[in-house]
Amino acid sequence: MNKNIPDLFGSLVFNDKVMRNKLPKDIYKALRKTIQNNTHLELDVANAVAVAMKEWAVENGATHFTHWFQPMTGFTAEKHDSFITPIGDGEVIMDFSGKELVKGEPDASSFPSGGLRSTFEARGYTAWDPTSPAFIKDQTLYIPTAFCSYSGEALDKKTPLLRSMETLSNMATKVLNLLGQTDVTSVSTTVGPEQEYFLVDKDLFAKRKDLIFTGRTLLGAKPPKGQEMDDHYFGAIKQRVSAYMHDLDEELWKLAIPSKTKHNEVAPAQHELAPIFDSANIAVDHNQLTMDIMKKVADRHNFVCLLHEKPFAGINGSGKHNNWSMTTNTGKNLLDPGNTPSENIQFLVFLVAVIKAVDEYADLMRLSAASAGNDHRLGANEAPPAIVSIFLGEEITEILTAIENDTFFGKHQNIQMETGATVLPHFFKDNTDRNRTSPFAFTGNKFEFRMLGSAFSVSGPNIVLNTAVAEALSQFYDKLKETPADKMHDAVYSLVKEVFSKHKKVIYNGNGYTDEWVNEATQRGLFNFKSTPDVLPCFIDKKNIELFTKHNIFTESEIYSRYEILLENYSKTIHIESKTLQEMLRHEFLPALTKYMDILTNSITSRKSLLNLPCTSETKILTFLANSYDNIFELYEKLEDLTQTAENMSDMLLTAKFYQEEILPLMNAIRETADSAEQYLPNDILPYPNYEQLLFYI
Ligand code: ADP
Ligand code: MG
Repeated sequence: MNKNIPDLFGSLVFNDKVMRNKLPKDIYKALRKTIQNNTHLELDVANAVAVAMKEWAVENGATHFTHWFQPMTGFTAEKHDSFITPIGDGEVIMDFSGKELVKGEPDASSFPSGGLRSTFEARGYTAWDPTSPAFIKDQTLYIPTAFCSYSGEALDKKTPLLRSMETLSNMATKVLNLLGQTDVTSVSTTVGPEQEYFLVDKDLFAKRKDLIFTGRTLLGAKPPKGQEMDDHYFGAIKQRVSAYMHDLDEELWKLAIPSKTKHNEVAPAQHELAPIFDSANIAVDHNQLTMDIMKKVADRHNFVCLLHEKPFAGINGSGKHNNWSMTTNTGKNLLDPGNTPSENIQFLVFLVAVIKAVDEYADLMRLSAASAGNDHRLGANEAPPAIVSIFLGEEITEILTAIENDTFFGKHQNIQMETGATVLPHFFKDNTDRNRTSPFAFTGNKFEFRMLGSAFSVSGPNIVLNTAVAEALSQFYDKLKETPADKMHDAVYSLVKEVFSKHKKVIYNGNGYTDEWVNEATQRGLFNFKSTPDVLPCFIDKKNIELFTKHNIFTESEIYSRYEILLENYSKTIHIESKTLQEMLRHEFLPALTKYMDILTNSITSRKSLLNLPCTSETKILTFLANSYDNIFELYEKLEDLTQTAENMSDMLLTAKFYQEEILPLMNAIRETADSAEQYLPNDILPYPNYEQLLFYI
């Protein structure tokens, strides 16, 4: 198969090139204006776009269209309508109007709304987002849309993201104009999410209730370490996986998702995919699509793609790295240190804006990465700690420290600071490593937020980042706006100095996995929220409500509704896990234990009577298994009880805490006992595949 990749790339996307070819010139111009300036779209333009879109979609084999949206489930939703319109005499034409393009009305009563929209008021609206291109998937034209209630409240993950991008753009532009960059009229946030995942064999997956219902294994003894890492065997895994990755890349490229894939060797069966960054809104849409397509392509290769943050105990889980920066409409990356003094100072302003934002809203950052699944990773020496801190690297920290102390830092010279006269050395790219233990690391010309879980929509973390940075910039603007031009440099230096001084406590360049850091962070007064129920109440803190409402990202009722959804989601997740574990114990694990104990009992009895042997070893195993059975059953009954109690609780926060403090530890205790018993069970008696089979027999 010899495909021309440039031709393939974006071939299923209604992109700029297609629009230019298909649309009348004036319509094309009007649409571009809408996309670039976020202006209102007239119905006649929408009608013309709809005609062109349908024509293109039908040419490419589409029969249906769908408004594709991102409800607060974290997944995407779609309802398909066909283009077919009857014209009498049993004939149909393929039709699609501007109204159908611009607005949809899905029956949305079952999507989570956290009390924003009662079920009898089931109407929810989807509205076309022209800034994210439409595309074709499964013979359907997908139109990216925002989703809101009858009264205009956002019910999705896209609307607040778009609001936050606009706010950041406005604030950053104002500051840049003050700094003399008068040609800048907008700033877009750029995002490149790196995605980790596991692949397991479909037939094996189908035998594990825990993977099917919860996405993670609730039982499973660790395989003997390294035993399976035989070279020959590993080669065989690679071949099947690389066929998958190849296929996946092609599917993604068709949708203009610029992926570059690499194998991850940290955990067996774990891999990573990273795309080239894009504007935040498109990057979020693309990441949602990527997760969908990863699963779909896996199915074709007889795999199941696991996106859960911790599918297997004892080996690394999966995360998502959110690379983030800001770019002007003139093409300048604001987190690139630059080569000239004027760019340097501008860089430092935006750098300290991020530092201030992360320090002041570390709780929201942590919250944006909180979920039942990700709780298994954060702070567990495989992922960043649950404490939000910033890695800047030594040199950049020294520069800011020198500014704080009024001594300028130069790499090869030691020059006293003369306002704006000195150029920062262009050093970062090579030096800012790779501190893998930091949750928020400066990596040369962008920040990498590494706390996210693999199953997340990357929307939430970017909403928080954009808004918090916009707030810092708006304060900078207020401070600087009265300054005369000839005093601006001094004023900006003082600002950088003051902000760094105040917020440097959030900077930590050392090893984030150590206990010393946890202690030091406590002394510095940084947050350390260990679990999701600990951090969720921060959402409704006064300072955070003020932040979001001031910048029109969320209304107060939208915040409360999201808070409730997050709490409920947490409790539901653990509830399902508990129920699944109970079922596996009742139907599978305990009966398997009984079966093997019977075999042992028979064997011991007959050997004793036939040969008059003491059978000490077998008796020892039998006793161990019998005791394990009793222990597990006792804990099982308790789990059943407590889960019932949780089900009857009404306060959402207390319920979530109860699941975290009472039910999870009990599930862990059961697991520990069961896993040590599992080590004595013959493979053919355990009715589902064990870790060895899941992780190594691909
Ligand atoms: P690596 O981490 O392997 O060294 P890079 O640092 O080049 O690779 O990129 C990691 C991710 O960061 C990629 O998804 C890349 O597209 C993204 N990225 C690079 N520059 C930016 C930027 N300015 N804004 C957002 N994401 C970026
Ligand atoms: Mg990375």
